[in-house]
Amino acid sequence: METIYTIPLNEVFDADDGGCPFCSLDAKLEANTLEYVLGAAMMEPDVRQSLNKSGFCAGHLEKLFGMKNKLALSLILETRSLSLIENIELLAEKDCFICKRIRTERSRYMSNALHMWEKTPAFRVKFENNRSMCTAHASDLLKTAKVKLRKKDYITFKATIATAFAERLKNQAQNSRTFADSFDYRNSGEKINGNFMKKAGDLI
Ligand SMILES: [Zn+2]
Ligand SMILES: [Zn+2]
Repeated sequence: METIYTIPLNEVFDADDGGCPFCSLDAKLEANTLEYVLGAAMMEPDVRQSLNKSGFCAGHLEKLFGMKNKLALSLILETRSLSLIENIELLAEKDCFICKRIRTERSRYMSNALHMWEKTPAFRVKFENNRSMCTAHASDLLKTAKVKLRKKDYITFKATIATAFAERLKNQAQNSRTFADSFDYRNSGEKINGNFMKKAGDLI
C-alpha cells in the first residue's frame, strides 16, 4: 500500500463535510490535473504528445480556458490542431487527457481504499460510519471490490455499503411513493368524483 494514497483517503474520510469522500478526491484530482496540464506537462515531450493525441472534453476545455496560463493553453491547442491536420484519424482516439488521468488515479484510490478497509481497523470504522458516499462512487467501489476482495470479504463489504445507503434509499422510496400516491384516483378521486357528481347533478 502506498502512503501517497493513504493520507488523502484518510483526509477525505475525516473531513465529515456531508459530501461524498470520493467526490472530494475527484475534485482534488481534477484541480491538480488542470494545473499540471498548463504547468509541468508543458516540459514533458511525451505528455505533450499524448495531449496532442487525446484532446479534451468540452467541460475540461472550458475549465482550462478559465485558468491563468493562457499561453500554455494556446500552445497545446496549436499543436493539437496541427496534429489533427496531419492525421484526422486521431479524432477517433479522442479521450480527454484530464478525464483519463482522473479515471486512472481514481481507480488506484478505490483499490487502496479497499485495501485499507481490509487491513486498517481505524479506516474501516471511518468507512463504516460514512453515510454520504454517492451512488456513482459506490458503484465503482462495488465493481472493484468484486474483483479484488475474497468472496467472504466481498459479502461483508457489500453489507457495509447496503447499511450506508439503507436510510437514504428508504427515504427516497417513501418520498417517491408519496408523490406517486398523489396521482392515484383513490386519493384525488374524492375531488374528481365530487366534481363529476356535481356536473352530473347539473345535467339532471
Ligand atoms: Zn462521489
Ligand atoms: Zn474531460
